[in-house]
Amino acid sequence: MQDVQSSQLKETQSAADMMSQQPGAEVKPAATMRHDWSSDEARALYEASFNDLLFEAHSIHRTNFDPNKVQKSRILSIKTGGCPEDCGYCSQSAHHKTGLKASRLMQVERVLDEARAAKAGGATRYCMGAAWRAPKGRDMAAVCAMVEGVKALGLETCMTLGMLSDEDVSRLKHAGLDYYNHNIDTSERYYDKVVTTRTFADRLQTLARVRESGIKVCSGGIVGMGEGPGDRVDMLVSLANLPEHPESVPINMLIPIADTPLGAAPRLDPIEFVRCIALARILMPRSYVRLSAGRSDMSDEMQALCFFAGANSVFIGDTLLTAGNPEIDADAALFAKLGIEDLALGDL
Ligand code: SAM
Ligand code: SF4
Repeated sequence: MQDVQSSQLKETQSAADMMSQQPGAEVKPAATMRHDWSSDEARALYEASFNDLLFEAHSIHRTNFDPNKVQKSRILSIKTGGCPEDCGYCSQSAHHKTGLKASRLMQVERVLDEARAAKAGGATRYCMGAAWRAPKGRDMAAVCAMVEGVKALGLETCMTLGMLSDEDVSRLKHAGLDYYNHNIDTSERYYDKVVTTRTFADRLQTLARVRESGIKVCSGGIVGMGEGPGDRVDMLVSLANLPEHPESVPINMLIPIADTPLGAAPRLDPIEFVRCIALARILMPRSYVRLSAGRSDMSDEMQALCFFAGANSVFIGDTLLTAGNPEIDADAALFAKLGIEDLALGDL
């Protein structure tokens, strides 16, 4: 383990001064918003003594957010399975024989019924995901109607539909889409070990189009896919060095799916996962860092450490597209134990 570099420690000191603030006190801007991180600098933070890393991450978190509030999103698969991409982790790829039944794009009214239930369950953002490489022109009218309908319910909207053309982006923007999710998944170096049907550069191109349009960006990745620590660090550096930080950064722990190429990947050490959350918080001080896939297999203690390290968003509801997620009651009990409250839409 290396010591935190002296310049980074200086930042820790100033952040630590703010530790005297009461929880929930006025949110102050981060000392620095950088877009020029080097891999080595970020790696030194990632490999610092765990207590130093956590202290720095939590200090930055507390400087920018109420540390006792977590934003809740809910996600629905609006078009499941049969995807032409070959993502090695995914149950929905047509390249893997996972036994998942493919379905067509859902009817708009059914999506709106689900969104109403999500709102009643405490969600403030409704995410809709489709197993596409890219949407087809003929699907865009229905997708835009979903955005308009969900927004009219008073929820924030997020879509994840694969790669977008300029025209797709402008139609989604016109429909009022708040966020677009497009994960970079891993480091550029490790990318082709995970997906071969598109490139890391393709991912960045869609992200640039979305950013340009004014739709907010949700982008993160998956850890525990057999990558090395340098890949985890570089994935976060790539996100932090975008011209603007994604507003939302989901960090997924791989859910191993039988009969996919990554179905037998060894489980990542939970401490390594917490390090990823902490590094995301330090590199992107004002982004919502979402503790995403894999929470069902995380202990309460591990999740508590993640919230301390800077995670401040989760998916609620017992399904995550096609995978499991903690039951609403289990989450309510966990948040009550930790004294964590919902972040209301007005707080965002
Ligand atoms: N097809 C779209 C795309 O890939 O951009 C959207 C749907 S995709 C299922 C949404 C995200 O879920 C992926 O980018 C990936 O990060 C995450 N994901 C999918 N399968 C996963 C798994 N088995 N474990 C953890 N995360 C997973
Ligand atoms: Fe398709 Fe998305 Fe799954 Fe990749 S992650 S196979 S693009 S649904």
